[in-house]
Amino acid sequence: MDAKDTDRTEAGPGKDFIRTIIDGDIRNNKNEGKVHTRFPPEPNGYLHIGHAKSICLNFNIAADYQGQCNLRFDDTNPSKEEQEYVESIQEDVRWLGFDWADRKFYASDYFEQLYVFAEQLIKDGKAFVCDLAPEQMREYRGTLTEAGTDSPNRDRSVEENLDLFQRMRAGEFPDGSRTLRAKIDMASPNLNMRDPVLYRILRATHHRTGDDWCIYPMYDFTHCLSDALERITHSICTLEFEDHRPLYDWVLDQLPVPAHPQQIEFARLNLGYTVMSKRMLQHLVNDGRVSGWDDPRMPTLAGLRRRGYTPEAIREFCDRIGVAKRDSMVDIALLEHCIREDLNKRAPRYMAVLRPLRVVIENYPDEQVEELDAINNPEDSDAGTRKVPFSKVLYIERDDFMEDPPKKFFRMAPGREVRLRYAYFITCVDVVKDEATGEVVELRCTYDPETKGGDAPDGRKVKATLHWVSAEKALPAEVRLYDRLFDRENPCAKDVGAFTDCINPHSLDTLADCRVEPALGDAGPGAAVQFERLGYFCPDVKDSKQDRLVFNRTVTLRDAWAKIQKQQKK
Ligand code: ATP
Ligand code: MG
Repeated sequence: MDAKDTDRTEAGPGKDFIRTIIDGDIRNNKNEGKVHTRFPPEPNGYLHIGHAKSICLNFNIAADYQGQCNLRFDDTNPSKEEQEYVESIQEDVRWLGFDWADRKFYASDYFEQLYVFAEQLIKDGKAFVCDLAPEQMREYRGTLTEAGTDSPNRDRSVEENLDLFQRMRAGEFPDGSRTLRAKIDMASPNLNMRDPVLYRILRATHHRTGDDWCIYPMYDFTHCLSDALERITHSICTLEFEDHRPLYDWVLDQLPVPAHPQQIEFARLNLGYTVMSKRMLQHLVNDGRVSGWDDPRMPTLAGLRRRGYTPEAIREFCDRIGVAKRDSMVDIALLEHCIREDLNKRAPRYMAVLRPLRVVIENYPDEQVEELDAINNPEDSDAGTRKVPFSKVLYIERDDFMEDPPKKFFRMAPGREVRLRYAYFITCVDVVKDEATGEVVELRCTYDPETKGGDAPDGRKVKATLHWVSAEKALPAEVRLYDRLFDRENPCAKDVGAFTDCINPHSLDTLADCRVEPALGDAGPGAAVQFERLGYFCPDVKDSKQDRLVFNRTVTLRDAWAKIQKQQKK
């Protein structure tokens, strides 16, 4: 079933449930009919394809309703956050095609204001300084079935609380020794409402505020107030925050804020054969399981970009998966389908031989080189043609030859005639082997000069068309074939142990001795190309150089998604 069709049913055709809510708000003139969203990443890692779903949702909703979308860094956890991430996030959002104009904010911009709000809660008797150590706090918290116990400090006077909180800020107490907590209800069935911590003491240098602060506000206190200060109308977040919504609303109800945004939760994107948590991705990077955040096997936007994914394909994917209220696993074949569809339209075709097998055309003149016409893109009539050099010694794909072929193998074999794409019919007349190993090292062939361009005037047919390159003119290249990073759909499933146990050992296959057609020497870094019969590739942005070409395989040509859909239609 198409993911789009299933996920949209919650809202009726064409509209997801969030847009349906917004339509209602506009009808009721809530927020004076305005729509203002935000994308609020924590700068503790690179963005991944799951974030792309959130980015597309927030920015597209703003655009659909002539509203605005802010970029806000949720930077309340100085020990994990870094400037490098702040920069990569901006690069990735821009690359995806979205623009926050002058609305880039940081939760840390509000630290002073948040502190004032916290003092206000204390003055109103709604927050207190608690001396419980973290382990004790956990014991007092209770469980899902048992109520918690009030902190012994819960009834401190306002004066004492204010004094202690000010001294927390002044740095008089060690890290972790005290917290500021909301005074709500230790018996609430919702654990988040059991006097949650609002501030903690933490001596860590913040990437923006340096050592100005030794107390930091917690996410639940910061996020809702940041939303309110920015006059966000619809605060869209993932499902795990559903249980935090009462706290979100509680904080805003207690304080004189300029707006009370509505929190709406949607299901996060889970994609098969990969992991999406930044903690896990960080682990892969730190452990050297991948070459970095931008390793082309990573589900990060930086990794996908380096692999050759286009922003258009990722946006199309996000559109097709839609927005649902229930968690689900999206088939990675759909993502691959989207990039194939996009590249099929725009990627010029070339010939490249990944595992070269030498072919000598015995009856072709030794020094002759012909420039043959090749079509750049059959899907794009404006893309024109190019010249491909043909000469006496060629390379074909090792896989395209079998000495003793089974019945259904129609490609090259001894005595057989096949077509070389855009060139001639050739016939294999002899096979040269390495005497020691018995390995086939060369095919001796003849060509039919009458078949130039790929057709025989006598109408005779061949069963295979092979790609090839001229041995003399082709450029050497390294080609990196990527496969799924994990060997099972859900690496985080309960029965698999550590997620790193199911890393696919064959996720990267580096072919160091490939040959590509000379025109590929001019392909700019990152430019998408199709290697005929093999897949879509792009020059690696980091490693490909004029004198040493390196290509990444973006995706193969086999479209598993189209096949699944065809079967379902039957
Ligand atoms: P992670 O679990 O990967 O660390 P996170 O939620 O902690 O993710 P944030 O930087 O806080 O990462 O996320 C920024 C925004 O992106 C949030 O609104 C979050 O809900 C959303 N988001 C994160 N992961 C996904 C996902 N897999 N699908 C959809 N939205 C996501
Ligand atoms: Mg988060």
